[in-house]
Amino acid sequence: MKTSDSPALFNQLRLCSNCILPESFPGISFDEKGLCNFCRKNTKPVEAAAEEKKKYEQKFIDLLNDQILPGRTNDRSYDILMAFSGGKDSTYTMSLLKLKYGLRVLAVSFDNGFISDTAISNIKRVTDSLGIDHIFFKPKWEILKKIFSAAKERELYSKKSLERASTMCTSCIGMVKSICLKMAIEQNIPLIGYGWSPGQAPIQSAIMKNNPALSRMSQQSILVPLREVAGDEIKAYFLGEGHYSDPEKFPYNVHPMAWEFYNEAMIIDDIKQYGWQAPADTDSNSTNCLLNAYANDIHITKYGFHPYVWEIANMVRDGVMPRGEGYEKIYGKQQPELIEIARRKLG
Ligand SMILES: [Zn+2]
Repeated sequence: MKTSDSPALFNQLRLCSNCILPESFPGISFDEKGLCNFCRKNTKPVEAAAEEKKKYEQKFIDLLNDQILPGRTNDRSYDILMAFSGGKDSTYTMSLLKLKYGLRVLAVSFDNGFISDTAISNIKRVTDSLGIDHIFFKPKWEILKKIFSAAKERELYSKKSLERASTMCTSCIGMVKSICLKMAIEQNIPLIGYGWSPGQAPIQSAIMKNNPALSRMSQQSILVPLREVAGDEIKAYFLGEGHYSDPEKFPYNVHPMAWEFYNEAMIIDDIKQYGWQAPADTDSNSTNCLLNAYANDIHITKYGFHPYVWEIANMVRDGVMPRGEGYEKIYGKQQPELIEIARRKLG
């Protein structure tokens, strides 16, 4: 695929000498050595991080042994609902849940209208190869188009959300989370699995029980703006009053990559055995979504930093990803063809 150079905007930016966060990132400051305030705060020794990983892995095993496995009953067919994008991280996570932890998995994929062809084939091959039931959930295009068109024009969510992801990404993830929670509650599934990389979500949130009050708050933060944009039909993707009535039915969210060994090259190599193929048709920060490059481009132009820089910088800082690799992902070549595909599709 033909590529262009990195955005001109990035050429002049001062970057943290350690983690690659740019001077344009909100709230950043550098010391005389060029180290950013986020790196200066991060003084946890490597051994402590390894200890913490072990602790969380044990916590997960205990949860399975104490609650999940004994709770297998006739009216429960699955132990975990996996939010499965078909990307490398959720593929790897799902393989661990099934093979390492022996769980009965129901995979759910959210189709935002921009899943790459390779990702769709990957989803089918991987679920077949692992022997996992799978559901595609695709909202109607007219609703998705309204949401993405609004998201490219203006901010829909909190300022903080813009530091973590583009408005388009936050819209999709918000719907994914609420659809998964809704399905898990309705089908009596006690766990929801996410393939967050160690840079996307901290280990402290790796095993967390959902509760009605918190869920209502996070649902509202997405539902209210989306309803303004797409109308009342959007409610179909969110919890109704009935769902909130039984706290016992609220599942745990888990993201095992927080405690598992993480290395991108290793993961990509490992999941080939389940028929996963690296897509040639997506950008360097997504192995499944064709909207991503466009969403990134808009975000960079508006805010002066890449929407993935926070999570990539986290991984560089924690030694999970080499600095050069992180730099290339964030400040490397863009793919104008991908941007053009999404632009055209959204009119
Ligand atoms: Zn830094």
